[in-house]
Amino acid sequence: MSNPTPTSSTPATPAAADTPKLSNFLRQIIESDLEKGTYASRKWAGSPGDAAHHAAGQPDPAKIRTRFPPEPNGYLHIGHAKSICINFGLARDYGGVCHLRFDDTNPEKEDIEYVNSIRDAIKWLGFDWNGSPNAEPYQASDYFDFMYRAAEYLIEAGHAYVDEQTVAQMRDNRGDFGKPGVNSPFRSRTPAENLERFREMRDGKHEDGAMVLRAKIDMASPNINMRDPAIYRIRRATHHNTGDTWCIYPMYTYAHPMEDALEQITHSICTLEFEDQRPFYDWLLERLIEGGLLAAPAPHQYEFSRLNITYVITSKRKLAQLVYDHKVTGWDDPRMPTIVGLRRRGYTPESLHLLHERTGTSKAGGWTDYSTLEGCLRDDLETKALRGFAVLNPVKLTMTNWDDVMGVGHLEPCTQPALPHPPEGTEPPPPRHFTIGKEVWIDREDFEEVPPKGYKRLFPGNKVRLKGGYVIECTGCIKDINGVITDVLATVVPDTKSGTPGSETVKVKAAITWVGVANGVNAEVRMYDRLFLDAQPDAGGKDFIESLNPNSLKVVTAIVEPSLANALPDQKFQFERHGYFVADRVDHVTGSKPVFNLAVGLKDSWGK
Ligand code: ATP
Ligand code: MG
Repeated sequence: MSNPTPTSSTPATPAAADTPKLSNFLRQIIESDLEKGTYASRKWAGSPGDAAHHAAGQPDPAKIRTRFPPEPNGYLHIGHAKSICINFGLARDYGGVCHLRFDDTNPEKEDIEYVNSIRDAIKWLGFDWNGSPNAEPYQASDYFDFMYRAAEYLIEAGHAYVDEQTVAQMRDNRGDFGKPGVNSPFRSRTPAENLERFREMRDGKHEDGAMVLRAKIDMASPNINMRDPAIYRIRRATHHNTGDTWCIYPMYTYAHPMEDALEQITHSICTLEFEDQRPFYDWLLERLIEGGLLAAPAPHQYEFSRLNITYVITSKRKLAQLVYDHKVTGWDDPRMPTIVGLRRRGYTPESLHLLHERTGTSKAGGWTDYSTLEGCLRDDLETKALRGFAVLNPVKLTMTNWDDVMGVGHLEPCTQPALPHPPEGTEPPPPRHFTIGKEVWIDREDFEEVPPKGYKRLFPGNKVRLKGGYVIECTGCIKDINGVITDVLATVVPDTKSGTPGSETVKVKAAITWVGVANGVNAEVRMYDRLFLDAQPDAGGKDFIESLNPNSLKVVTAIVEPSLANALPDQKFQFERHGYFVADRVDHVTGSKPVFNLAVGLKDSWGK
């Protein structure tokens, strides 16, 4: 992948604390729990641990505890941003703490690159984890010892058994929605026999896949997740944290509830696909509280509906495919819905907080229109992004009378506000400075030799204002042998300079943006469009690669005014009349010319 610059020097945003927040079912649940004191008796020993550990601690200063538990196997995307806003936002709003926990119980897939990018993404969104800006994230693999102990307890209490059926037998005996499962022939072994087998599993006496530990619940349960789910498997794999200490690893559905309970989580918030797991979550924690291993009250799981945005894919696996198949330039390609990609595209933390609020938090599914996402960025940049002139498809305009009326080679200084409407109560930034001379660059679309009906810009005989400069009258154009216009010709109307007395006496119907040939700077401008042509590229098992938009990137050489040439990486601008652009945080400084990415157009072009 290309190399995203480290973000540690970027100050954390105040998490858009002033974004208006609507109530939602999660807020209501938390408010009710706080009122009833559901979690008021909890103790917190200062670090995660079992019942005895917390019993020795102080009353928990955090009113609630939430968590964000990513698996470090890819880059976070816009759906994760929502989950981050929910979990960290609720903790912040209700005097709580949100834990960042790397769910690294699966030994094979983790990578330090992903761990670092997840930390960066959360900081960038304006949040700290685990109660202080310098706290280290928690790691689920630190709880392997406890998870093993809990498994031995379940075996001893008759709640778990080692099953030696083959994978196929287990699948056949699980039943389905209409058919109850069949008890395993190994289900009636004594706790002592099970304990012996389980210890053999741990000690490497059996092959990978030879047997699993299963919870002993109910093979006839209407919820298939309660039909004796597997909780430990044999897997000889080196773990990035625990090395070769273990050759058995806990299953996710077994590990996750314990991770929450050890960390004294109160509200465990996840997406709806985990709803069917909640009975097992509750069952397991009840058993372990009963056995005195975990502190009561148990955390409770709540589910909300995941964020789906049209024309956007939010599956780590599919995003990884785009990266590895080189359909994009990397995880941080500005077309990617990853947090690093959105950031490189010009998205701000505030715009993503706004998206989170505007899309709401509920159990009702549905699709958010891509234009909602773009609207959030536009609304955020409107009062923040400095203005500038950029000519994206340049053609030269020559003022043929310039030398006579203004003086040979004369360059007239011009200024324009950098921010016409600064946010209330803030000082406007200093204005922009540039010059106008005999030759300027204009956009090709601003000249028509034969104007279509209603066209108000340049055509022979028409007058327009060069914004911030003079009124000019178009006199014609010059073409090359192929009929391509190489020069637009005009005359300058003296005494019409913007902001000078009497400049308004010559009336025009349009003002166009321009850049002086004398001080314009060449820049690479990357015009991005949606990555997919299909609004739901991966719905119903479709091959999303087939709907990739072949025109999702067009690179143009533009000419920009001097103030833009000094842009800092990541700085956002409004190129007047064109849209919002960001100086590319990777290539802007390293290349031979400034590089800008289209963040979002000025108007919603999606309704068309
Ligand atoms: P993926 O399927 O893309 O790999 P995941 O759900 O496995 O995502 P994790 O990194 O394991 O993601 O989990 C981080 C958290 O983010 C989970 O609680 C998950 O529910 C949540 N999350 C993932 N995708 C979305 C989404 N589109 N909208 C809201 N929350 C999401
Ligand atoms: Mg996952």
